Amino acid sequence: MTSYLIRNAQILGGAPQDLFLADGVVAEIGTGLTVEADVDIDARGLIVLPGLVDLHTHLRQPGKEDAETVLTGTQAAAKGGYTAVHAMANTTPTADNPAVVELVHQLGKDSGYCDVHPVGAVTVGLEGKELAELDGMHRSAAGVKVFSDDGKCVDDAALMRAALEYVKTVDGVVAQHAQEPRLTEGAQLNEGTVSAELGLPGWPAVAEEAIIARDVLLASHLGARLHVCHLSTKGSVEIVRWAKAQGWDVTAEVTPHHLLLTDERVRTEDAVFKVNPPLRTQEDVLALRAALADGTIDAVATDHAPHLDADKDCAWAVAAMGMVGLETALSVVQETMVETGLLNWEGVADRMSHRPARIGRLTGQGRPVSVGEPANLVLFDPGYRGTVTADTFATRSRNTPFKGLELPGRVHATFLRGEATVLAGELAELGGAK
Ligand SMILES: [Zn+2]
Repeated sequence: MTSYLIRNAQILGGAPQDLFLADGVVAEIGTGLTVEADVDIDARGLIVLPGLVDLHTHLRQPGKEDAETVLTGTQAAAKGGYTAVHAMANTTPTADNPAVVELVHQLGKDSGYCDVHPVGAVTVGLEGKELAELDGMHRSAAGVKVFSDDGKCVDDAALMRAALEYVKTVDGVVAQHAQEPRLTEGAQLNEGTVSAELGLPGWPAVAEEAIIARDVLLASHLGARLHVCHLSTKGSVEIVRWAKAQGWDVTAEVTPHHLLLTDERVRTEDAVFKVNPPLRTQEDVLALRAALADGTIDAVATDHAPHLDADKDCAWAVAAMGMVGLETALSVVQETMVETGLLNWEGVADRMSHRPARIGRLTGQGRPVSVGEPANLVLFDPGYRGTVTADTFATRSRNTPFKGLELPGRVHATFLRGEATVLAGELAELGGAK
């Protein structure tokens, strides 16, 4: 296995040090290391973070391989600095049984660019009518611990209760896509000034907040673990903050796009900005940033949602919802959280690696950057400035809402258990063992 000597890198933004990676682990850390390594990397000006962990990725396989595959999605993840992703269940067929989660898990292993942890559907076919094979998926080779009907809300309170009761027995978690369906029928964008001016049906904040309020109460009643997907409103932040203050085991995530963009973008009627939950107001954006800074929101999760051009280059009303995000997440977090002074790099490591790994109960990911730990690392250049272009993306899809924006930072290298998946900003060729 290749060994690496990384010289003068700043661990979590600290003073320059050398790291020696060998046999899959961080073998040595120090100044002026003299070890012989297969590859020498001059990392002056680069920051070392633990490999990022995404709780919310759509890899589209099986069923939509023209938009993304496990291979291209994990390559995009590696280029974004990720070493583990959770693959959402809304594939075709749905990941609601052991066979499908084992397939996705195996495709992840075959790819080798990033660990893939399949998320199991809560209900059969995401239809919200009967519980999926939760225990079968948990006991399968995929070892599922995170369950979600993401894309749809588990709005039936009795089914949500049953799912929470189950995950409690296996230290799992239900990740809820909080969207009251009756309040969002036909909804096209955030309900507010912009939706009124455009004359399009709105997606009101209360449709998210009402479900979160119900679910934190339900989870506390059962003593079960709840995770809230893609929080998007100021009111949702307040509810999660209150639930945490009660000591309840509730966690939450926010997406990069909800940290940066507002519904003002929708005035362009460019469907690249169509997403669920929708882009909200500047007041919401600032509340989400503050909540991520103070830890009310635990994690940044991409909700990477690849779509074919045909499903985005069309009229707003018929366009698909979602945006790609794996390859821009860390830059958006630098822009919105680090450059604003809200988080330091230690905080970024916590919200993008340590905490998401803990929520997913992953072992070997989200670990500290220290000797003896698995070498899951990202080398990031925070001094880089560039304009986002989808041309260089590894993802098969091109629906980035950040196209043309100048964002700071760029991933220089990513290591998965000591093996480079990205080097000098380019995907690495993986060894023959894969
Ligand atoms: Zn969702």
